Amino acid sequence: MTIQPNSIEARDKAYQLHSYTNARALERDGSLVIDRGEGVYVYDNNGKKYIEAMAGLWSVAVGFGENRLVEAAARQMAKLPYYHTFTARSHGPSVELAEKLIQMAPVPMSKAYFTNSGSEANDTAMKMVWYRSNALGKPEKKKIISRIKGYHGVTIASASLTGLPNNHRSFDLPLPGIFHTTCPHYRVFKQEGETESAFVERCAKDLEDLVLREGPETVAAFIGEPVMGAGGVIVPPAGYWEAIQKVLKKYDILFIADEVICGFGRTGKMFATETFSLEPDIITVSKQISSSYQPISALLINEKVYQPLADESANIGTFGHGVTAAGHPVAAAVALENIAIIEERDLVGNVRALAPKFQSRLKAMESHPLAIEARGTGLIGALELKPRDGFAAGELGPKLLAVMLEKGLISRAIGDSLALCPPMIISESQVDAVFDLFEDSLNAFQKQLSA
Ligand code: PMP
Repeated sequence: MTIQPNSIEARDKAYQLHSYTNARALERDGSLVIDRGEGVYVYDNNGKKYIEAMAGLWSVAVGFGENRLVEAAARQMAKLPYYHTFTARSHGPSVELAEKLIQMAPVPMSKAYFTNSGSEANDTAMKMVWYRSNALGKPEKKKIISRIKGYHGVTIASASLTGLPNNHRSFDLPLPGIFHTTCPHYRVFKQEGETESAFVERCAKDLEDLVLREGPETVAAFIGEPVMGAGGVIVPPAGYWEAIQKVLKKYDILFIADEVICGFGRTGKMFATETFSLEPDIITVSKQISSSYQPISALLINEKVYQPLADESANIGTFGHGVTAAGHPVAAAVALENIAIIEERDLVGNVRALAPKFQSRLKAMESHPLAIEARGTGLIGALELKPRDGFAAGELGPKLLAVMLEKGLISRAIGDSLALCPPMIISESQVDAVFDLFEDSLNAFQKQLSA
């Protein structure tokens, strides 16, 4: 594509540095400019229509162009466009949202704490864990365990928790004191002849070995996504979470469930904590809390976390943490309306109703000559491509993605896996349309490869 002078694409490459983008490739090829959205569809600046089968970044649960969220934002903007929650100040939307989240929480939680992004929520979780250990007189209990291929964000602490090379390489990360244990992706990480249940046992043993090697008295917390998202949509094998939680309990290690993708219905329950019978001490949420119409995230913390933290704040005189826009009244008002829509329209029920079709059509693609594995649960999934002679690992995914885009389907290439995570308002015929386009793209790509 040639980039016209003074076009939005030309101005974009002239002035804007993009996240998760090869900056030199963007200088050459430009960007795809999305102009508007409606339901599960978005339109680019040339009027081309796409099915947004990634819901933006796994996040637009109620779809694009939801007027109720526009109105909720406008109402709050007119009444009180900004206030904060520092120094014992508060405002209605933050109180209402905190109350709603604590009432909805899948396990007993004590308090909600607001931040603006998933990264900040996980960063804050780590700081709370450290603060708590100091409050309990255990200053040595600070180490945090995460997993290879886990994704928890990009700030210095949360990028350290993330277990992906691109988030560490050239950033001098991870920080010391953060460790990554085995990824529960059976096909990739199993040993020769290892059954799935033996693999699960080994995942738990690897965690226990790491804890013992480091010293249990030094390990404060474990963080994990119930289903790994940005690491490639990895659904852990049966029994995995039970085995992991046993180790955490044995050594008095806090459990942080990162529900930034799973939260608010993605796996067919409001929280994946229910789907996988988890007992987290901290839950972090973002994305679908507001369908990303406004930036907002939250931590839900239980009494085990809150009580020592409250004591320490009293000792010191303040809980010395917080960002200016946290619990923003407009973002909180939008989140409340978004959650109301999810409940009123039973979008979680819609996920459960459509999941069998979504997953069976995805699974059917596993037998395509180009594919090696289909993975997923609820309305999230990925198809991984087979390694192929003449192509480096991670080279095929973006090439197929380009074919999909050409056909009007937005997915995301995670190496050679193509992810799907459509808005939760999607209909049955739209699920079929997603997979029809996906299959067409795969067949076209196969022709292209053999030409
Ligand atoms: N945790 C998970 C599980 C995520 O998927 C993401 C974002 N993809 C984050 C944390 C970080 O969220 P943010 O991009 O809002 O910082």
